[in-house]
Amino acid sequence: LAVEVTVSPLPDKLAGGAMIVLQDRTADEQAEQMRRDFVANVSHELRTPLTAMTGFIETLRGPARNDSAARDRFLDIMEREAARMNRLIHDLLSLTRVQSDERRRPATMVDLPLLLRGVVATMSPAASAAGVRIETQDIDGSQRLPADPDQLVQVFQNLIENAVKYGGSGGVVRVTMSRIDHEPLLRGPGWAVDVEDQGEGVDEMHLPRLTERFYRVDTHRARAQGGTGLGLAIVKHIINRHRGRLKIESRKGQGSRFTVILPETLTRG
Ligand code: ADP
Repeated sequence: LAVEVTVSPLPDKLAGGAMIVLQDRTADEQAEQMRRDFVANVSHELRTPLTAMTGFIETLRGPARNDSAARDRFLDIMEREAARMNRLIHDLLSLTRVQSDERRRPATMVDLPLLLRGVVATMSPAASAAGVRIETQDIDGSQRLPADPDQLVQVFQNLIENAVKYGGSGGVVRVTMSRIDHEPLLRGPGWAVDVEDQGEGVDEMHLPRLTERFYRVDTHRARAQGGTGLGLAIVKHIINRHRGRLKIESRKGQGSRFTVILPETLTRG
């Protein structure tokens, strides 16, 4: 607990006394600390690819000057690092946007199964190139709910991308939709979408932190896979905006299931 104490003299009429104001600064300080951590994380994430690129530029100027095979290899790596910085900036901008949207209720009605079919169709080619098949269940028909379509696309893209990335090659990613009649935190009926993989899973102790910005179970591996560490943070903010819920279940070595639960109507509040 951090308390800020302000002592100020009372107005003339009450001369002789003093007023003491005690104010709890814990929340303010936590928010400030989180902002500082975030800036430190962003700087670190941007600096890593930059340092790599600077190193390769030096090598290309010096020892590898006349080695054309090395030059091609280094240029490939530099291109990858530049692409990583680009993705990071893209995700940072998305995160900022969804955070500032969070209080505005989505105003349009979106056909959820239609949107899911579109996302799956778009992502299937890249998944099969990675040796993963995306299977769907019960995403036919038409069900409308209040949502921001671009943001919902982003939610399912991020979840399916992760399922493909961490699901292991030769695996299957299953996308299933089901009706929810009663969900205590939802205050009414809604729809659940499961994105399941049979991949590496995560240890239970990591689960509560997965949606934190830049939290990764295995930083090195996640980076090598091209991740920015912001995907699930973006997902969480978008779902909050839709007054929905995200459930994460996972078992190490067996796979994970991410469930997005969205209300059918948005009540006030
Ligand atoms: P990243 O860009 O690192 O994938 P995310 O925010 O999307 O960032 O995910 C955070 C971390 O959660 C990942 O680094 C990974 O450790 C873990 N994770 C996310 N999805 C899965 C999944 N389907 N299976 C196993 N681990 C996952």
